[in-house]
Amino acid sequence: MYLEYCIDFYRMKHDDFPILFELINNNRLVYLDNAATTQKPQAVLDAIVHAYSRWNANVHRGVHYLSQVATQKHEEARKKMAQLIHAQLDEEIIFTKGTTDSLNMLAFSFGEAMIKEGDEIIVSQLEHHSNIVPWQMLCERKKAILKVIPLKEDLSLNIEAFKELLSPSTRLVSIAHVSNLLGIVNPIEEIIRLAHEKGVPVCVDGAQSVPHLKIDVQKLDCDFLAFSAHKMYGPTGLGVLYGKKKWLDKLPPVEGGGEMIEHVSFEKTTYNVLPYKFEAGTPNYIGSYAFGQAIDYVQQIGLECIAKHEDDLIAYMEKQLAEIPHVKIYAAGLFKAGAVSFNVYRADGTLIHPFDVGVLLDRQGVAVRTGHHCAEPLVNHLQVPGTIRASVAMYNTRNDIDTFIIALKRSIMMLD
Ligand code: PMP
Repeated sequence: MYLEYCIDFYRMKHDDFPILFELINNNRLVYLDNAATTQKPQAVLDAIVHAYSRWNANVHRGVHYLSQVATQKHEEARKKMAQLIHAQLDEEIIFTKGTTDSLNMLAFSFGEAMIKEGDEIIVSQLEHHSNIVPWQMLCERKKAILKVIPLKEDLSLNIEAFKELLSPSTRLVSIAHVSNLLGIVNPIEEIIRLAHEKGVPVCVDGAQSVPHLKIDVQKLDCDFLAFSAHKMYGPTGLGVLYGKKKWLDKLPPVEGGGEMIEHVSFEKTTYNVLPYKFEAGTPNYIGSYAFGQAIDYVQQIGLECIAKHEDDLIAYMEKQLAEIPHVKIYAAGLFKAGAVSFNVYRADGTLIHPFDVGVLLDRQGVAVRTGHHCAEPLVNHLQVPGTIRASVAMYNTRNDIDTFIIALKRSIMMLD
């Protein structure tokens, strides 16, 4: 039954991604570094060529034909993003350069308007650096305090401790929906509910969740959501900051320049309406169009179908990893979206350095990520120099996982 479902799925999807036919060190590429970035289907590659070849012109400025086509494509893409996450209004979608840019923009803007000395911002122990450093910088600027939700022994968030951290001084909670290192799905609904009970807004780092889970910002009731196009089959250099209109209306722009203004004079400049107030300069309209095509591609298959397939691959991989002696899987058994992290130990209990395993896997054509995965506080908590992370996307197959496991066993034999 499973095979029946997946054979068509594999054939169709695998063949749509030209890079998957590359040979790496004379081996078929098994690409398991999707949490870092996904590969692009032909439809997205074609969209970029099509846009530059047929209708390239700067948006929002020209009365000429090409400029109007480009503007229309860019705004249609915004609508697709709004539909993807079920935002109430298109103007709640701000185009950015990526999740990092979205979070920095929010930290700056929210910080300017809402944060003063002694205020508190809450993040967690398992955040990506992009959801730590902008808040840390803000706290330094404003003499505010960064509080950290600790982890339980199984590496899930300690929600009881979170309840204690929420105080009358808390101004914002910013939490990853899915941990990029562990792959675990945080109880974001509960976090949002608890924060809202205290009148505190919540920003969700959706870099790893939007590509894998169906997100409905209205149902979640999150106040902000950040994600990147390149982790969801789209181009690099494009991301989204979603914000509830009631918040975005209150927050000041971050960058000044073209697009974001209504009128400029040396005496006083007035700002444009949403979302343009936050989009200074020429936007990445080729990127937004290409990401729109990626979303169409994903929706043609169905996010739920993709998620089912990826969940199967993760469960299949975790089961096989668990059978290899001296492999330690982090957050074993917890529900994961898209990624598994582990380390390998020798029989004498010493750690085989994750880089060494990564290099040997690469020689066999298997691409995984090794290191701290931009989550150093979490890696320090695990008391290791790094982990090996294998992460899947729609085009991966059980065959990929088998190849990876064989290559891993071979690597361990060489390093043990
Ligand atoms: N947050 C998380 C959870 C991530 O996984 C990543 C990317 N690894 C980021 C933020 C940053 O995304 P980007 O590099 O696309 O800005």
